[in-house]
Formats: sequence, C-alpha cells, structure tokens
Amino acid sequence: MKLQEYQGKELFRAVGIPVPPGEVATTPEQAAEIAGRLGWPVVIKSQVLVGGRGKAGGVKLANNAEEALAKSTAILGMDIKGLTVEKILITQAVDIEAEYYVAITLDRDVRRDVVIVSAAGGMDIEEVAEKTPEKIIKHWIDPAIGLPAWLARDICFRAGFDQEAATKAAAMIVKCYTAYVKYDATLAEINPLVVTPKKEVWAVDCKFIIDDNALFRQKVTAEGETDATDPLEKIAQAKHINYVRLDDGNIGIIGNGAGLVMSTMDAVRDAGGRPADFLDIGGGAKAEVVANSLDLVLQDPNVKGVLINVFGGITRCDEVAKGLMEGIKRTNPQVPLVVRLEGTAAAEGQALLAESGLPFAKGLREAAEMIVAKSLS
Ligand code: GDP
Ligand code: MN
Repeated sequence: MKLQEYQGKELFRAVGIPVPPGEVATTPEQAAEIAGRLGWPVVIKSQVLVGGRGKAGGVKLANNAEEALAKSTAILGMDIKGLTVEKILITQAVDIEAEYYVAITLDRDVRRDVVIVSAAGGMDIEEVAEKTPEKIIKHWIDPAIGLPAWLARDICFRAGFDQEAATKAAAMIVKCYTAYVKYDATLAEINPLVVTPKKEVWAVDCKFIIDDNALFRQKVTAEGETDATDPLEKIAQAKHINYVRLDDGNIGIIGNGAGLVMSTMDAVRDAGGRPADFLDIGGGAKAEVVANSLDLVLQDPNVKGVLINVFGGITRCDEVAKGLMEGIKRTNPQVPLVVRLEGTAAAEGQALLAESGLPFAKGLREAAEMIVAKSLS
C-alpha cells in the first residue's frame, strides 16, 4: 500500500527522522490558518500518490497569508497525472543548500534490501539515474549485518557527501532502515534529503510503500492505495480473496491450496487451455468464500469456462458445494463449469451438486480436458 506523503512522514517522525512540522488541509482558509501558526515561509504540497508533483506545479512556496490562500486555491482540485488533489500538506519551508536522494527498497532479483543514495537528489533524479548512473551508489544489505551507522556513513562518503553531511545523513539512513523494517515496507524513500546552509538535515519528502501482505499487522488507516492495479484484483483484496489475474488466459481456475491451484493451472495448460487466474480459496473455506470466488472469476470477460478443483482436507466438500450453488444462483454463469471434488465429505458435496447438473470429473487430468473441451470447442 502506497502511503500519502503526510502519512509516511508520521512513520518517519516515529523513528526519529527530522521532518519539518506540518499539517494537512482541505480548504485554502484552513491552509492559511495552519501556515500562520507554522510561520512563514511555508510549502504547500498536493497529496496525491504520484511522483513529480513539483514539476507538475503541485508543490509551491508561500510567504504570507495572501500567497497561501492563492496557492492553496490553485493546488486544490488540480489534476496531477490523472489524480485530483483533495488534500494539501502545509509544512514549514526549509532553506536548501543541497538535495540528496535516499531510498531503501526490496531488490527481488538479488533477494535483498538495497540502499540507494545519491548526492544529486531532487526533482531530476530519474535523469541522473539514466545519464550519470555512476552518481548513484547502491548497497545491498546483508540481513546478518543490517545497516549500522559506520556502513551508512561509508555509503554516504562513496556518494560524495561532505564530512558533516555524511555523518548526519547516515544517522537518517539508519533510521530510515529502522522504519523500513518496523513497518514492513517495500520502499522508503527520502527525496530530497535536504542539507541547509546551517548544516541541518531534513526529510523534505517521503514515499512509503507497505507490503500488502503485512497490512494485517500494520494498522495503517488506509487512505493509501494498494499495489493492485487490476480492477478484479482490487475487488479480491477488499474481499480477502487470494486471487491473481493472468494476462491472456481463457480458463478460470479455483482450487484450495497454492500447490493444488498451481498444478491445476499446469494441467489446464497441458490440456490446451490457458489459465486466466490463480485463485486459492484457502483451507477450511466456507460457502460464502466459494460463492464470492466464483462470482469474481466470472467477472473476467476473457474467461470461457471455469474449473473448480478442490481436495478436501480441512476444507469440507459439502461446504464448497453449497458455496458453488450459491455462486451459480447469484451469477447465472453463461460459460461452462467443471468440478472436481475429492476428500473430506466428497460424497455429500457431490450429492448436493448432482441436482444442479454440474459436470463432475474424477481426476485432475480428466477435469482439465473436460473444461478445455467444453469451453474452447
Ligand atoms: P515531488 O516533486 O513530488 O517529489 O515533491 P517534493 O516534495 O520532492 O518537492 C519538490 C521540490 O520542491 C523539491 O525537490 C524542492 O526543490 C522543493 N521544495 C520542497 N520543499 C521545500 C522546502 O521546504 N523549501 C524549499 N526551498 N524548497 C522545497
Ligand atoms: Mn520528492
């Protein structure tokens, strides 16, 4: 889940990273009132979940109440890369001598967290990465060593920070890593990390992404946006269904247990179909989950048929059957379904479904061949 800047900054504050004081407003009057309390000049910052707000005109300095009103009015309601600005963050402005870039993120290829630091931070960091990549220093964190201060300092020196900035910035990077670990982040970015003429350091901007899989224990009051961009995956997340949509498939797949679902996908492919999704109803699924799952898979317009493959252990096949009947009643499917039910309470489940006339398959291979034949012929 991507957090808004002001939410991420709260997490930064909680681990002791220096963040300029600020408050959120939704009207220009509120903004001017907050600014008056914070003291001039202030920065007025659109709160939208995209980068490059500065270049888009969504970050502006204000020196007095009149400017605060005018600039808040300009920013509120502004469209930035397709998002409408509904909130602004008003913060004390800091003097900038230098802008540095700091980020910690998960490098899935290396399977480690990586610290990325550059002395050429600010709004042009993408261009720096492209044209002068040597100005960007990366350090992959060994989990057994973590990120002690000496290591963070060494990274800053390699990135060309001067002595004093390096020591202060290193302390911030260590805290940034603390926040990254504590809040289950996949990204914690400070750009810019500002050094003032008086050699103070501040986290002036914040990008923070929390791993969606950790949201159950990170009590983020969710104004953020989940990583899912696919509309069906968003529905799945809201309903706590384990669903991944696949490009360019034609057979919907529902099963229980990740391993069984993946083998079902393989079997469908062997039989000449293309899996349209991965959907795991999990262990001990109740009828409601099964009904919601069928409903979800059938919403994918590419799906020409659905294979339901359940091997009952703690999951009871009669419960699955009830859920399927409920789902069928609700959705009135226009594409063929094939069911394989084995294991706990299979006989009861099959008896329940027999009335509905749903075709049964005995084994996995047979099930896959049946659904492909019915759907794609
Ligand atoms: P982004 O463009 O979405 O990354 O938004 P930022 O929060 O990074 O702001 C963009 C730019 O605005 C920064 O790179 C700074 O140059 C400038 N800026 C932001 N806050 C301040 C501030 O407190 N003082 C000054 N002087 N400039 C600021
Ligand atoms: Mn920024």
